[in-house]
Amino acid sequence: MRSKIVAGNWKMNKNYKETKVLVKEIKKSIKRLPLDNTRVIIAPTFVNLSIATKRAEKSAIEVVAQNMHQATNGAYTGEVSAEMLKSIGVNTVILGHSERRTLFGETDKILTEKVNAALENELEIIFCFGELLEDRKSDKHFEVVKSQLENALFHLDALAWNHIVLAYEPVWAIGTGETATPEQAQEMHAFIRKLLQEKYTTVVADNTSILYGGSVKPTNAEEIFSKEDVDGGLIGGASLKVEDFTAIIKAI
Ligand code: PEP
Repeated sequence: MRSKIVAGNWKMNKNYKETKVLVKEIKKSIKRLPLDNTRVIIAPTFVNLSIATKRAEKSAIEVVAQNMHQATNGAYTGEVSAEMLKSIGVNTVILGHSERRTLFGETDKILTEKVNAALENELEIIFCFGELLEDRKSDKHFEVVKSQLENALFHLDALAWNHIVLAYEPVWAIGTGETATPEQAQEMHAFIRKLLQEKYTTVVADNTSILYGGSVKPTNAEEIFSKEDVDGGLIGGASLKVEDFTAIIKAI
């Protein structure tokens, strides 16, 4: 079901104590906000998922994972499976983040396996994708985004899309301070929704939440979120400070 979403990707930030403090602060600061149809999501590191989940109880905060391995279990030192996430009450996982793709070699093929494993374990997926700067400069951004979606998600049936949230994150805008203009975001989101309509149905296209990610800050959030096909944001740096994260939530 399409909803407004503000999701904070904490990446490899915040230790155990800092996680407890930040969850407490967010909980307090959003308590009286009229959230209506807005989901507030945070993605701490694996080691802090349990404590964050516990501390987020009785609040609107949903705690999700930043990644998972595609196998059920076995000899995969250092990895975490979908079933393990479920077993501690985590129901959503971020997949395909550009840092996973570029720093950890996650290909479309690996991502397809991860997508399948997540869905088999009834995890919702926040699926990230987006073009590099050179793709945009050479006018290949639509083509690149299309193939990322086709390669990792378009084998799914229409029903599976009830468990998918898309996050368009132009790589050139992640952590760089450079944001896509609201018009660039809207143009790409409309393109993505059209792809969903052509491949699936208008219902799937209309019901899928599409988030924008890439240097969203309190100063630009409102304008980006005002665009009709932008359903919220995946926030990196600005999700680590309660004032900024709250301001972005208020902007939706
Ligand atoms: C991200 O990592 O998904 C992200 C969008 O980061 P930032 O907001 O810091 O650009």
